[in-house]
Amino acid sequence: MDLELTERQRAFRAGARSWLAAHVPAAPLPSLETAGGFTAHRAWERTLAAGRWSAVTWPEEYGGRGASLVEWLLFEEEYYAAGAPGRVSQNGISLLAPTLFAHGTAAQRARILPPMARGEVIWAQAWSEPESGSDLASLRSTARRTAGGWLLSGQKTWSSRAAFADRAFGLFRGHREEGAPPHRGLTYLMFPLRAPGVTVRPIGRLDGKPAFAELFLDEVFVPDEDVIGEPGQGWRVAMSTAGDERGLTLRSPGRFTASARRLVALWRERAGNSGPGGACGAGDRGASAADGLRDRVADAVIGARAYELFAYARASRPEAGSAAGAATGAESSLNKVFWSELDIALHETALDLLGPVGELADDATDAAGGGGWADGYTFALAGPIYAGTNEIQRDLIAERLLGLPRERR
Ligand SMILES: Cc1cc2nc3c(=O)[nH]c(=O)nc-3n(C[C@H](O)[C@H](O)[C@H](O)COP(=O)(O)OP(=O)(O)OC[C@H]3O[C@@H](n4cnc5c(N)ncnc54)[C@H](O)[C@@H]3O)c2cc1C
Repeated sequence: MDLELTERQRAFRAGARSWLAAHVPAAPLPSLETAGGFTAHRAWERTLAAGRWSAVTWPEEYGGRGASLVEWLLFEEEYYAAGAPGRVSQNGISLLAPTLFAHGTAAQRARILPPMARGEVIWAQAWSEPESGSDLASLRSTARRTAGGWLLSGQKTWSSRAAFADRAFGLFRGHREEGAPPHRGLTYLMFPLRAPGVTVRPIGRLDGKPAFAELFLDEVFVPDEDVIGEPGQGWRVAMSTAGDERGLTLRSPGRFTASARRLVALWRERAGNSGPGGACGAGDRGASAADGLRDRVADAVIGARAYELFAYARASRPEAGSAAGAATGAESSLNKVFWSELDIALHETALDLLGPVGELADDATDAAGGGGWADGYTFALAGPIYAGTNEIQRDLIAERLLGLPRERR
């Protein structure tokens, strides 16, 4: 890997930085997990699209810039460093779009990608069911053939942002031959969230915000043009989405390097200058606690830097691709375990530095440390669960990367 940026890459980074400096809202937007915040974030997606920064790796015909993965990483670094808003369109841009590039038809890409890039159609992922999480292949929602399309029925759950989104993508069971393995006969379909037969019931999160939802589908009509890949071959297509979800595109290193920089600033402000007896939570507990915290800050920063280098190395590989999302098979499980544990370490360390005041919610008038740490921590706790739990990822690493014996199932 060449650690020097080319002139073109430096120019790309400078262009992103100056555009963000001119356009990032001065005050943080309200949480995208609320109705008002969702609308504000949708408007931000339109602003990004107008500057052609909403989907930088996509070909220009769909609203992208045809940028390479390395350029995308540079953009993400600038994005998080600028404190830009969270991406409400992430399910579409990071998960569905790479799947359409890999498995969709030209007509699907032309129809679906431009409105996705403009934030006009926001997508939810509808995979999990009440009895099917880690064991996704056991799902029970059905797709029944009808004239010109399919009728979807069943229940999905834990669908992030589905309370406010427009459309969703998920897996449905067609006919299943006697004795066939459960992942056979699944079909990958896109469907509307505001249509006859669909009931969206919001689920409050730990912080009370309602953007999760469970979905009840009762004979919802979906035309043939909304099947991705071949009917009955949905598992193969879904594994491609899952690779992107765990791979680079969902959680770029920019997110963690920006948090690491904020953590160092917090350390300097709360402990670094004042020594063990200083104003931070550690100071109250004496020198060894402060030393322990200093080591944890250093570990978290090293972790963020390691993830960054790992990501650049992968993105620099000739076969890395760009618009197709940089999925790297079983290696994406390594990625997922690493970033989810790093995120918790970063936030936990910041909260310990802040002491009791760190536990105030970010919208509290006296929230500490520039805000973001308490809410970020509750979200980081979910990292080892979503996108496939870390227990399952460790199984995949053991079996597929290390070649250890398969677990008895
Ligand atoms: C913040 C958040 C956002 C989410 N967003 C979405 C979304 O947008 N769309 C969507 O479809 N879903 C979403 N989910 C759901 C998520 O994908 C599931 O929670 C996840 O797949 C785990 O499934 P489960 O909750 O049913 O747990 P289970 O599968 O019941 O697992 C429970 C525990 O048992 C462990 N376990 C299970 N099987 C094994 C095994 N074979 N070996 C070792 N350990 C095992 C698991 O690792 C876990 O610790 C989201 C979840 C969270 C927390």
